Amino acid sequence: MTSKVQVFALGGTIAMAPRREGGVAPGLNGDDLVGAVAAWTGGIDVAAETLFSLPSASLTFAQVAQVAARARAAADAGASGIVVTQGTDTIEETAFLLDLLLDLDAPVVVTGAMRAPSQAGPDGPANLLAAIQTAASDEARGAGVLVVFNDEIHTARFVAKRHTHKPSAFVSPLAGPIGWIAEGRVHVPLRPARPAPTFAWPAAGLPEVVLLAGPPDDGGRLVRALLADPPAGVVLQAMGAGHTPRHLAPLLGDLADRIPVVLASRAGAGQTLRQTYGFDGSEIDLTRRGLIPAGMLDAPKARILLALLLADGADRARIVAAFDD
Ligand code: ASP
Repeated sequence: MTSKVQVFALGGTIAMAPRREGGVAPGLNGDDLVGAVAAWTGGIDVAAETLFSLPSASLTFAQVAQVAARARAAADAGASGIVVTQGTDTIEETAFLLDLLLDLDAPVVVTGAMRAPSQAGPDGPANLLAAIQTAASDEARGAGVLVVFNDEIHTARFVAKRHTHKPSAFVSPLAGPIGWIAEGRVHVPLRPARPAPTFAWPAAGLPEVVLLAGPPDDGGRLVRALLADPPAGVVLQAMGAGHTPRHLAPLLGDLADRIPVVLASRAGAGQTLRQTYGFDGSEIDLTRRGLIPAGMLDAPKARILLALLLADGADRARIVAAFDD
């Protein structure tokens, strides 16, 4: 039986074309992208639809929720797999949000390009072809939302963009990719032991969760501003294992008395520690003051999970357990 793959195009470098004023901007549609790889997709029935034509920094989470609803509808209508093409700047967040909104057996594969079609050696067609092959494969079924770049298959929960322009920008620093594509064949020797939890998209949208940078010698202006006008939640992108300048610890504790404050790290890989460092401003001090360790999630992904938990009415115990998991 022929596999059917539905491609949803959202914009990004993969769909960008030169502008008269200079630079590239979204301009190509889903049919253009699929047309460029048609010579290699024989045996797969590929349909394309352009949902948005945006640079990914301008995609909203509500728009990503619409993509999730369309992916679900496509799978219900018989698609064997779904591919989402978008800008690379926010794939680590949008793929993770899709993963938390979907529980499909059909593969949902997000991809894009680091080089626009008008540049030398564009990577978009190869990435799209590998994503379509992954979405059509039995090997990728039931593995959650995946990100395919550079012939590697990453899970949404671990993938990160770690370079501004190289085609090899996507990595999974904590756990590695779970598979690869070679000569058109999809290999998935590893898969997550547990599926991600699934959330319904809240009708009122997500509550505001602020991502707070935590550099050395920070005077505390932003923490004081958040105390004066607290959002629904905060994720602190702390240093190292979960550390902040000592004079900020009491202010962060005051904030954590009022709203959930999740303690993540800017290190780029590795879980927030819990019981190693005991100095003022350390992870032991901050968690005693009520901050919640982000566990294995980095700050941008922790922000999405916290927002979905708050929208779902989660209390502190459930928030702590969700990040512990
Ligand atoms: N550099 C970006 C890209 O890869 C721009 C964007 O994220 O839309 O598509």
